[in-house]
Amino acid sequence: MKDTQLYQQLLGLTEEWEIFNVEIGFDKLEVNVFIETKDKKNGKCPECSKICSIYDVRDERNWRHLDTMQFKTILHCKIPRINCEEHGIKTVRTDWAEKHSRHTALFEKWAIQVLMGCNNRTQAKKLLGLSWDEVNTVQERAVKRGLCRRKDLNTMFLGVDEKSFLKGHKYVTVVYDIENSSVIDIAKDRKESSLDKILSKLSSSDKHEIKAVTVDMWKPFAASIAKNLPLAKIVHDKFHIEKHASIAVDTVRKQENKSLIQDGIDFLKQTKYIWLKNKENLNDKQEKLFQYLFAKNLKVGYAWSLKEFFKTFWSFENAKVAKIFLKIWTSEVLKSNLKPMIKFAEMINNNLHNILNYIEYNITNAVAEGINSKIQYIKYSARGFRNFDNYRTAILFYCGKLDMFPHTFQ
Ligand SMILES: [Zn+2]
Repeated sequence: MKDTQLYQQLLGLTEEWEIFNVEIGFDKLEVNVFIETKDKKNGKCPECSKICSIYDVRDERNWRHLDTMQFKTILHCKIPRINCEEHGIKTVRTDWAEKHSRHTALFEKWAIQVLMGCNNRTQAKKLLGLSWDEVNTVQERAVKRGLCRRKDLNTMFLGVDEKSFLKGHKYVTVVYDIENSSVIDIAKDRKESSLDKILSKLSSSDKHEIKAVTVDMWKPFAASIAKNLPLAKIVHDKFHIEKHASIAVDTVRKQENKSLIQDGIDFLKQTKYIWLKNKENLNDKQEKLFQYLFAKNLKVGYAWSLKEFFKTFWSFENAKVAKIFLKIWTSEVLKSNLKPMIKFAEMINNNLHNILNYIEYNITNAVAEGINSKIQYIKYSARGFRNFDNYRTAILFYCGKLDMFPHTFQ
C-alpha cells in the first residue's frame, strides 16, 4: 500500500478529498500529509451544500493531527473557495478541522481527553507537545463549544459562592448546579452585578424551574437572586452559617485568653481547634484537653455549648418547630452575655426567613465541596492564570460537565 493510500484510510477522508503526497521528515520526526480536492472545478457551499464553481484557492494552511507513532503529523491543504449564487464567495468546509482551528478535530478531541485525564496542565502540555498558548486555545475552544451546546440546565437548585483569586486580593463569584454537581459559570468580583451577569443569561425555562438558591448572607447576592429569579427561595448556606458560629466562639476564646494571660494563666493558648473541630474528630490527647478545659466553666466553654446547641436546628423537619427552637436558643444566647455570640444570634434573627428555608429545601453548598477541591487544585497547579479569563476557562473545562468535543467525521 502506498503512503498516500494509507493516510487516506487513516484520516477517513470523504470522497471529495485526496492525499497527493506524504513526506516523512526523519530529521524532525515529522510526517507531512498534503491534501487537495479531487474536483478542481466545483465544490460544496458550506452554507447550503449546493455544488458551485471554484472561485480560487487559499494559501496553504496546516493542522496538527494525531501523531503517527513517534512522528508529529501535520496536514497541509490549499482550501478552495467557491462562488455560491446565494451566499457569495465562501471557503469550502474541510473534513478534518473546525473553522479557524490549527489542529484537526481528532487532535483536539485527543488533547481534551488528555487534559481532562491528567488534571495537571503542565503534564498534559508535555505529553501533547503543545505550548501554553496552544493549551489555552484548545481549552477555550472546548469550553466555548460546550457553552454553545448547553441549552437548558434542567435543575431546581443552584448554589452561589465566592472564591478568592490572585493571592486572595480579588474575588470571583461562582454559580453551581447543585443537582448536577457542576459549575455553571464564574464572574469577576462578588458584586450584585457579578451575579447578575450569570443569572440573567439563564433561559426563561430554567428561571421558572429553579426552586431555591443556597448562598451566604451576603446582601448583594440576595439582591441579585431576588431580581433575576423572583420565583426562587433563598436558602442561607449551612456551612457558611456554621463558619460564622465558629468565628464567634473563637472570638470569645481570644478575648478570654487575653484577659487570662494578664493574670498569668495561659491554658487557652493554641486551643483554637479544640473548640472548633467536631468532637468526633478530636484525637485522644485533644479530647482529654477539651474535658479538662470544659470542666473549668470558662466563657469559651459556654460559647461552645451554645454553638453545639444551635446545631440541633439542622435536623428539624418542620419550619414552625424550628422557629420555636431558634427563639429558645436566642434567649439562651442573650442570657450568656457573650457579645460575639449575641452578634451571631442577631445575624441569625435578621436573616430568619431565609435560614428557615433550609428546613424545607435541605440544600447546602456542600455538594460543591468536591468541585471546590478541584478548583483549589486548578489554582495551585496552574501558573498560567495571570488573568481572569484563563481561570474561568479552566474551571469550566474541569468542573462544567460540558459537552466539549469537536464534531469529528470518523
Ligand atoms: Zn450556498
